[in-house]
Amino acid sequence: MADSIYLDYAASTPVDPDVAARISALLKSQLGAANPSATHRPGRAAAAVIEHARQQVADLIGAQAGEIVWTSGATESDNLAIIGAAHFQQGRGRHVITSTTEHPAVLESCRALERDGFKVTYLRPDDAGLLDPDIVAAAVTADTILLSVMHVNNETGVVQDIAALGALCREHDLLFHVDAAQSAGRLPIDVKAQAIDLLSLSAHKMYGPKGAGALFLDADRCRRVEPLQFGGAQERGLRPGTLPTHQLAGMGQACELARQRLATDPPAQAQLRDHLWSQLQTLPGVLLNGSARQRVCHILNVSVTGVEGESLRLALRELAISSGSACASDSGEPSAVLKSLGRSDQLAEASLRFSLGRGTTMAELDRAVAIFRREVTRLRALAPTLPDEAA
Ligand SMILES: *Cc1c(COP(=O)(O)O)cnc(C)c1O
Repeated sequence: MADSIYLDYAASTPVDPDVAARISALLKSQLGAANPSATHRPGRAAAAVIEHARQQVADLIGAQAGEIVWTSGATESDNLAIIGAAHFQQGRGRHVITSTTEHPAVLESCRALERDGFKVTYLRPDDAGLLDPDIVAAAVTADTILLSVMHVNNETGVVQDIAALGALCREHDLLFHVDAAQSAGRLPIDVKAQAIDLLSLSAHKMYGPKGAGALFLDADRCRRVEPLQFGGAQERGLRPGTLPTHQLAGMGQACELARQRLATDPPAQAQLRDHLWSQLQTLPGVLLNGSARQRVCHILNVSVTGVEGESLRLALRELAISSGSACASDSGEPSAVLKSLGRSDQLAEASLRFSLGRGTTMAELDRAVAIFRREVTRLRALAPTLPDEAA
């Protein structure tokens, strides 16, 4: 464990030390013990901590505190946004548009809508992973109520033109949901300027704790959605259940730190990412997946010719990296996202996602590249018969 080179920040980030200290202090305090819905003094103090954290989340994305609903993470936010908004708005229409490269939390929410009789259009992006707003516009019908497109793809790091898609949604009077789990803290987000109506966030993708998330709901355009859980009056009834004071305080602080570091972290990581790519490329047959131009600072996804995916993963055990998304790693199937970008089965299987973060150093990357070069060279010599395809 101690020897792994951690290059899997897109799957989860370590908790920032100051955030961890704050969470720990709250867990040990009376305030942390109290139920934030209780009306006694420690309960009200806990509620005040949560409201401060709500403001910190809102400030990161240009929202008002009253537009933030707490969840357990981006999976729950995506479910609540898509299923909740579609059910609430179904009097206006029952058609939803999304893309084939969305996170499973979005795709499976759409499948659930289909089982409820909604119609969903899954648009395929181009081979660079980019969704053309004109293709989205062409898919809109009189029955369309919602578009869901992620800001940054978790496997490839490709950045969508969210402002253009937002403008299109306003023009056609559709609700616009954006999964921003990978972009928060890496790219500026302004929900008003980008015309976003619903936005999903996850704390553990931005140096906060696992098990905390938020959903932004625009106060003018979709104040309400149909809740998916039933119970108390917390979160205006949209998401009942006792709020975890320490987790939410941690998420709020992580958001404030992310905002403070937005001008410095992303360029530093982009520089490391470019260094990594230049080094990986010195070996022939290493192909970049997704747009080289519209990409986030912390994710680099490559396919390797002439090797088998399974052997490659085994050979690179020293590196804590993912092939595809952590969520799809168990299935044994080649990445559906890379297949959507036109990659062959071999190249989709022999793919690696390197993702960097605040703790990443140049020396770590150079060690990772040395291991990568050694192992790919060894595997290619072992299996010289595998087709050297370049799809
Ligand atoms: C990680 C991730 C999710 C899921 O977030 P959780 O907080 O782990 O539920 C959803 N969407 C994207 C793009 C992600 O990267």
